[in-house]
Amino acid sequence: MISLKIVQTIVHYSLHFLFPGVLAWLFFRKDWKKAWLIMIATMAVDLDHLLSDPVFDANRCSIGYHPLHTYYAVFFYVILLFFPKTRIIGVGLIFHMATDYQDCIWSNFLSAYTSH
Ligand SMILES: [Zn+2]
Repeated sequence: MISLKIVQTIVHYSLHFLFPGVLAWLFFRKDWKKAWLIMIATMAVDLDHLLSDPVFDANRCSIGYHPLHTYYAVFFYVILLFFPKTRIIGVGLIFHMATDYQDCIWSNFLSAYTSH
């Protein structure tokens, strides 16, 4: 299962860093490089991990665990979509949550697979 774990990591970080570039190109083409940078900057929500011990745990699901990764927070991120000035940030944050969420699915799948 080691190899799938590596695939999971590659998928996770590609979605965090590369895929926002695709979103920026598709939806904010006029200023896509800036939009990409803003979306990468939304990675700052991961600073809420610092409140946890341990700070990093590859097998922990961020969604619903860290304060900025709760459903309340996501609700707030959706509101950001309604305002042109905060829209890119909202897209970046919601996509960040989707990325972390798919990572949880990977982890659940892999741990179920390896424990049998
Ligand atoms: Zn995160």
